[in-house]
Amino acid sequence: MGEGMLSGEDIHSFADASLEIILRFDGDGRIFYANALAREELGYGEELEKLGLDKLLPAELHQEEGGFPLEAAREMTEGMMYRKNGTCFPVRMAVKAGNGQNLLFAINIAKLKETERKLVRMKEEMEETLKVRNEFVANVTHELRTPVNGIRGHVTNLLENGVTPEVSNTLDIIIRCCDNMSAIINNILDFSKLEAGKFVIEQKEFNFYKMINHTVETNIPAINAKGLRIMVNIDKTIPEYLIGDELRLTQILNNFLSNAVKFTSVGYINIEVTKTVQFDDEIELFFVVSDTGIGISPEEQDKLFKSFSQVDASITRKYGGTGLGLAITKQLIELMQGSVHLDSEKGKGSSFSFSVRLHVAQKAKEEQQAVEQFEFINQNQELPGFDSVEKFFQFGTPENVQEIKGKMEKLILCMEVEAWDKAENFAHNIKELMEQAPKDLKRAAFRLEMNVRKGDHDKSVEQYENLRAVFEETIGGM
Ligand code: ADP
Repeated sequence: MGEGMLSGEDIHSFADASLEIILRFDGDGRIFYANALAREELGYGEELEKLGLDKLLPAELHQEEGGFPLEAAREMTEGMMYRKNGTCFPVRMAVKAGNGQNLLFAINIAKLKETERKLVRMKEEMEETLKVRNEFVANVTHELRTPVNGIRGHVTNLLENGVTPEVSNTLDIIIRCCDNMSAIINNILDFSKLEAGKFVIEQKEFNFYKMINHTVETNIPAINAKGLRIMVNIDKTIPEYLIGDELRLTQILNNFLSNAVKFTSVGYINIEVTKTVQFDDEIELFFVVSDTGIGISPEEQDKLFKSFSQVDASITRKYGGTGLGLAITKQLIELMQGSVHLDSEKGKGSSFSFSVRLHVAQKAKEEQQAVEQFEFINQNQELPGFDSVEKFFQFGTPENVQEIKGKMEKLILCMEVEAWDKAENFAHNIKELMEQAPKDLKRAAFRLEMNVRKGDHDKSVEQYENLRAVFEETIGGM
């Protein structure tokens, strides 16, 4: 035998080390070699080397008259292999045939099968749990909705019957609470439907510009109350009538817009919508909602679109909310074949952008109406009610002074509890509110912001006291 050639003995010692069962058998199905694993696993020991293969695989190789079914053996891929004691185990196997000598390789897949069965069982159990949970959520939300609507209805009746201004204030608050509660109930219901894959996106004709108008209008009271500016800029090549889910599109836009209002105390909110693609009657729109609010840090951005996540527990306490809004919004956007993206810098602001695919309605194709008639949609037009903004930034007006005082109180509180992130925001707001103030004051505000940014408690307090003294001196002299 030449060098490098393997002897029969070598081959058998390799076969003995194999993790597979290896059997050699002749054309009659008689085994004449079995490796160590086969001898041990099947319980026959040396006796295996006289046995017929059909004894090991009775179901696969049931011998009919006329000898061993070699053809059937060649086609075997999975089967049950029997031990001497009558027990059996599943195997995956391959048969190589040639020259009156055949080889069978088999591997015991009992563990694999067991794992597969466990996985199937787990999946079934999970589906069952999810189903029960969704039914539970549907029932509970329904049960909650009824009393909330009841309370709201009765309170509205009371208001209509004429009450004193004080009582009327309280009743307004109750109505607002009911509305918040309804919004949360709806979110929970949506979320559970989305999770169960039961959410259906409607395809109905709607007026796109009216939809935008309506959504912006709903947020105007809150925008005005905070003295913010809003700019809406819509690409006029977008047809007036589109087909899609108006309610859900409103929900998406409203979520971004109301968050922008909620997390911005000074500055402006900008909405932009452009048409990115139109092919036949299919259209893709790209929305951007940006604000000059508290912003979101990169680490926090990662968590944002996951359910029940609010970037920071202290934010929940301050602003409220369940953290479900963005998770729902993201899924709704994806159901409209779009995607969502966030650019944000802590303390500077956030810009949420998303795309959705809709269809152009027949009506729109027939009459591409002019869209200027809609109040808020002229290029870069500011919404009414914003002269108050000027007063905010104009240094020394009562609004400005009051706002600065309010922010300073909050700032010192944050500094005392060492909540530096929030303190930084307040210090920044104060600096902005003092943009038009005399130089000394501006410089003091700048130094304060720098020290707060460094998180240096003692220096920050020192600069805070300094700023307060200069501020009081300045407004005292005005
Ligand atoms: P919720 O339903 O509680 O409002 P969302 O899912 O809409 O929750 O938002 C989750 C969190 O993302 C908010 O609690 C907030 O911390 C952060 N966030 C969302 N929008 C903004 C924004 N425009 N500026 C700053 N933070 C934001």
